[in-house]
Amino acid sequence: MKLVDSHCHLDDPKFDEDREQAIERARAAGVERMLAIGTGNGPPDLEVALRLADRYDFLYATVGVHPHDAAKATEETFARLRRLAAHPKVLAIGEIGLDYHYDFSPRPVQREVFARQLAVAAEAGKPVVIHTREAWEDTLAEIRGLPHGGIMHCFTGDAAQARQALDRGFHLSFGGVLTFPKAENVRQAARLAPSDRLLVETDCPYLAPVPHRGKRNEPAFVVETVRRLAEVRGCPPEEVAGITTANFERLCFGPRRLGESTTF
Ligand SMILES: [Zn+2]
Ligand SMILES: [Zn+2]
Repeated sequence: MKLVDSHCHLDDPKFDEDREQAIERARAAGVERMLAIGTGNGPPDLEVALRLADRYDFLYATVGVHPHDAAKATEETFARLRRLAAHPKVLAIGEIGLDYHYDFSPRPVQREVFARQLAVAAEAGKPVVIHTREAWEDTLAEIRGLPHGGIMHCFTGDAAQARQALDRGFHLSFGGVLTFPKAENVRQAARLAPSDRLLVETDCPYLAPVPHRGKRNEPAFVVETVRRLAEVRGCPPEEVAGITTANFERLCFGPRRLGESTTF
């Protein structure tokens, strides 16, 4: 199986002991590309994922300010985001969005920083990676008419929310939660999503899928989510691997470049 982990936090200190080995294990498990999320601890450091992407040709990066860190954003942050967004290994702007569960930054600040980063993505012609928690309606209100689409990362909504995101042109990215016994609503959403809008991710080091639940998550474990997604959709895991990989390619590299990446 050839797989993509479309969302991993490889800069996390939980990988300090064995980062290279974790990346090697992923490659050995068939994870041929990884999208490292560049939010880290927030501004001023916006390059935590790019530093990793510089070291591995199969590893790509995002840049962005997580809603938790929205209050740390300054004018300089947006200027640098605009510059970094043009970097060829930056595939998307994210993860950006709204988190009303923790409220680490005031909600009006979260909304402003989210909106400004959506504008950065539109200007750069790149998709967005959305983080949304207990803020669904406000998130939907912001993401109308995005020219380059995006990813609902770690999608844990139900079927109705899945339809709303799909109607807005979004891809749904499923992670470890899909494998949790109580997540039947998420599996329903995964069942109804059209094949060309599915992605898989780990969100490592968080949210390890069954049977690794409770342990540190790592990109190799995306295989378990692929297996579960295949069961849910009644098709072979190889098919889920194939479509999620092709979807990632199309969304992040664009139709023009799809033909160039056949060596992948
Ligand atoms: Zn997130
Ligand atoms: Zn994340």
